[in-house]
Amino acid sequence: MPRPIVASIDRSALAHNLDRVRELAPGAFVWAVVKADAYGHGIAAAAQGFAAADGLALIEIGNAIRLRELGWKKPILLLEGCFSALDWHAAAEHRLNCVIHCDEQLSEFIATPLARRVDVHLKFNTGMNRLGFLPEHARELLERLAPYEGVGSITLMTHFACADEPGGIDEPLRRFQEATRGLPYARSLANSAACFDFTHLAAAAPSPAVGHPDSVRPGIMLYGATPFTHASRSAASLGLAPAMTLRSAIIGVQPLEPGARVGYGGGYTATRRERVGVVACGYADGYPRHAPSGTPVLVDGQRTRLVGRVSMDKITVDLTELPHAQVGTAVELWGKRLAVDEVANAAGTIGYELLTAVAARVPRDVV
Ligand SMILES: *Cc1c(COP(=O)(O)O)cnc(C)c1O
Repeated sequence: MPRPIVASIDRSALAHNLDRVRELAPGAFVWAVVKADAYGHGIAAAAQGFAAADGLALIEIGNAIRLRELGWKKPILLLEGCFSALDWHAAAEHRLNCVIHCDEQLSEFIATPLARRVDVHLKFNTGMNRLGFLPEHARELLERLAPYEGVGSITLMTHFACADEPGGIDEPLRRFQEATRGLPYARSLANSAACFDFTHLAAAAPSPAVGHPDSVRPGIMLYGATPFTHASRSAASLGLAPAMTLRSAIIGVQPLEPGARVGYGGGYTATRRERVGVVACGYADGYPRHAPSGTPVLVDGQRTRLVGRVSMDKITVDLTELPHAQVGTAVELWGKRLAVDEVANAAGTIGYELLTAVAARVPRDVV
């Protein structure tokens, strides 16, 4: 028997969340973001769950090629573009749409003779200050890019730094608009948080490219976690369905006398007669090591709490009020009945990190 831990992936939840994007951004071209092995859900399951998306967007060229091998025929976008001439040839061969975000990338693209045209997303920095050209340089960049015979379609793109804050897209959008006004290209603007602002965005900045719908690039919301930090905007309140449930089981039980300590460093001390259960799930499975005592855990569907330190392969949970719990009792670390965002919040991180950190040794069970 394998260890009882498994991440079950619900394709119908992925499809449901994609429908939510369509409701929020009617008419938009939807790139479902599947970087980081589909936020930990597995690229193959994601391709099935997002069968109705217009395209898939990711960072890793190896997984992009794998998607082609799995039979994905619609567009694929490389969100950081290419890192070498070899990548450019592979992008042309596998019909990958590529971001170009810096001069070095643009020069290499123009200098590499390709067997087929490549569709390009020209990325602008509107205040995030990570990747992208200054929007003010849009026109001169397009004068270099547009005449090159290796370029197919061109899309103008930006990534918002603060789309999860009220009014957070207003200033970057204004900058983007001002620099690209009148340019006849399609645009790609919105991550998950901005999808929830899409009608505002579309009204404030109508697309200049007649016949080219705006595209959106939702990631986290498609997996049923919230892009927002404020508790009032939970995934459930946004109409999202959790796609991953991380399950395990109790593999040991210890009765504790008052004063007995639990785990490495004796991180928890019993204050009365207590019972702890040992769960087969630790930080080497992707459970956050910084989760403190008190982090919620479901045992047999009942909410209890983590006690003591998270170790590599195990956590310990309070079973004092769950006298029926025993070896073999089912545990949910997060998922359908316990939001990943709630666990993340207790551990001082975000749902994104927990989902993408689920380790390769945890089997994915796609349902
Ligand atoms: C990851 C990523 C997204 C998706 O962001 P979410 O917050 O998960 O919706 C969109 N665009 C780019 C460029 C990204 O790197």
